[in-house]
Amino acid sequence: MVKVTRDHVIYAFSKSDKPAAFAEPGQCVELETYDCYRGVMLAEGSTFRDFDRCFGNPATGPVYINGAMPGDTLRIEIKKLEVGPVGILDIGGSSGALKEAFAGREPVIKRLSVKDGMIDYEGILVPAKPMIGVIGVAPAGEPVGTLTPMDHGGNMDCTRVEEGAVLYLPVSTEGALLSVGDLHAVMGEGEVANCGVEIEGHVELKVDVLKQTGITYPMLENKEQWITIAYGSALDEASGKAAVQMFQFLCKKMGLGEVDAGMLLDMAGDLMICQIVNPMKTVRMEVPKWLVRCMQDRGHGSGAAVQDDFWKG
Ligand code: CA
Ligand code: CA
Repeated sequence: MVKVTRDHVIYAFSKSDKPAAFAEPGQCVELETYDCYRGVMLAEGSTFRDFDRCFGNPATGPVYINGAMPGDTLRIEIKKLEVGPVGILDIGGSSGALKEAFAGREPVIKRLSVKDGMIDYEGILVPAKPMIGVIGVAPAGEPVGTLTPMDHGGNMDCTRVEEGAVLYLPVSTEGALLSVGDLHAVMGEGEVANCGVEIEGHVELKVDVLKQTGITYPMLENKEQWITIAYGSALDEASGKAAVQMFQFLCKKMGLGEVDAGMLLDMAGDLMICQIVNPMKTVRMEVPKWLVRCMQDRGHGSGAAVQDDFWKG
């Protein structure tokens, strides 16, 4: 097992970053992560005046995966996701859909204990549903800050990035340079009022390199679903991209005909908002695997060669 402590953090995904660790394809990597406030807000009585925003959203890494080359796909299996004992919840007038409702008010910060899978909100127990907010690789061009989600992944804040899921990211630089941070003990879809229950933790990932599979955007699978995750400066743009990317995946990778793929999206595709608070918005398109399988089995194919090896680790 390769271990990376949070002594190694980045604030931007960059191809010029020096690796914090090296891993072989097929190996497991354990990363220790800070919460998005780098632990500063855990101290009782601390306020945003104590926090330098330059140190927001630290991501642990980067991990260089041997053999990963531009054009490959990094397969990341989330084996384990453990969150710390205390999460931070805050609300204020600086961002989110409630910005105006809270304008001019002092931000409110709550420190919530997380124990046995439950978050204690002043005596009300809310089930935890741990997820990874920031996970990404170095982009091909200029560095991208850890607050921004794009096709390299980054601050996607997608609740499906949880234990048991498999995330696929396009590799743009040698070694991929994978980093992870910004865990949430729980987060509402859309992250509308600014944050989730922000928390530190440990993440165990199994990394693999799929050679030259050619996806150019993040994809995810879990037991039941195929999911595309797309970004845009507005929800319209992100939504359109998520749907088209899924359509292309169904036609080109799953071998469905265009009409069947489109009708599958009409019947059972769910377009979901990941978050509306980051510099770029993220939206995902979810499709049930059982229906894709049924359509394939019943011969609703396009006749195009299906890349059977695409999802094999
Ligand atoms: Ca985030
Ligand atoms: Ca966060």
